[in-house]
Amino acid sequence: MSTCIFCRVVAGDMPASIVYRDDDVVAFHDIAPQAPTHILVVPVRHIASVAELGDDERDLAGRLITTAAHIAAQAGLQTGFRLVINTGRQGGQSVDHLHVHILGGRQMKWPPG
Ligand code: AMP
Repeated sequence: MSTCIFCRVVAGDMPASIVYRDDDVVAFHDIAPQAPTHILVVPVRHIASVAELGDDERDLAGRLITTAAHIAAQAGLQTGFRLVINTGRQGGQSVDHLHVHILGGRQMKWPPG
């Protein structure tokens, strides 16, 4: 069994509240939500971070963003939302499987912490 938490979620070996799944992308609710809506969009295939994406993975990178936008619309975030991709330890990444955070349902602040 994989030691990667998100690979285990994708495989169904770890329970998660899945909101979307296709052959390439899975989305599920964050276990520790930082906003009224907090959903993670991940590739099915293990990619450690956005820094590991190759030029031949542009389609997948685009799919992650467009899927996040569709999920945000379905979640009713018409007044706005934030997409976040933390990368590396200093970038705030704690799970080493590429993921896009969808955050919404409250006023976002800038700069982020
Ligand atoms: P990051 O810090 O950008 O790597 O984000 C990782 C996110 O994964 C955090 O917001 C965690 O709350 C979330 N998380 C960790 N484990 C799980 C899990 N089993 N199911 C859903 N979300 C998780």
